[in-house]
Amino acid sequence: MGGHPALDLVDTVGGMRETPPREEDEFLRSYEDLVALGLKTETLSERAARRLRRAARENPDEARVALEAALEARALLDSVFRPVADGAASPAPALDELSRLGATAISHGCLVPHGGHVAWSWEDAPGLDAPLWPLVHSAVELVTSGPLERVSCCGRCRWLFLDATKNHSRRWCSMEGCGTDAKIERYVARRRERRAASAAG
Ligand SMILES: [Zn+2]
Repeated sequence: MGGHPALDLVDTVGGMRETPPREEDEFLRSYEDLVALGLKTETLSERAARRLRRAARENPDEARVALEAALEARALLDSVFRPVADGAASPAPALDELSRLGATAISHGCLVPHGGHVAWSWEDAPGLDAPLWPLVHSAVELVTSGPLERVSCCGRCRWLFLDATKNHSRRWCSMEGCGTDAKIERYVARRRERRAASAAG
C-alpha cells in the first residue's frame, strides 16, 4: 500500500486519520503476519520465510518477542514519517532512536553480491527478528536518500504512501478505497444539507 517497505510497515495499522485505531484496524496480529509482510514487501525470500515460520513454531515465545519488537519499530517509523507527510521535520528523538535501531539492523546483516553490486542481506540472520531488519534499514535509506519529499498521508485514513505523481497531487491511499469513500461522503453530506435547507425553508 505504501509503495515503500518502511511505509508498508507503518501501514499495517489502518483506520481513520483522526481517530485512534480500533482492534480490527490491526493487521500485524501474529508472527505469521510479520513474515507475510516480509514476503509482500519483497524484503524476505520464500526460503527465509519457510525457515522463520518453522523456527517460530518451535519457539513461540521468541516469535512473540519479535512481533512486539516489530510493533515498537512500527510506532517509531510512524513518528519519523508522519510529521514529514504533514510537511514538518522528523523529531530529533525519533531520528536518534532510528539511528540506533538502524545500526542494530546493520549488525545483523551481511554484504552479499547483488546484480553487479553489493547489498545488505538478512537472508541468513539467525534470530526470529530477521524480518524486522530489512524494514528498519529501508527506513534509514528513505530518510537519508529519499525520496522523503514524496512521503504523503491519505486525506482520509491513516495510511502513508510515496506520492509518485509529477506535481505531488495524490490525495488518497487508493482511488478505489478512500477516493471513492470520500466522494460518497461528500455526496451524502450535500444531500443532508439540501434536505435540512428545504426543511428549514
Ligand atoms: Zn486512505
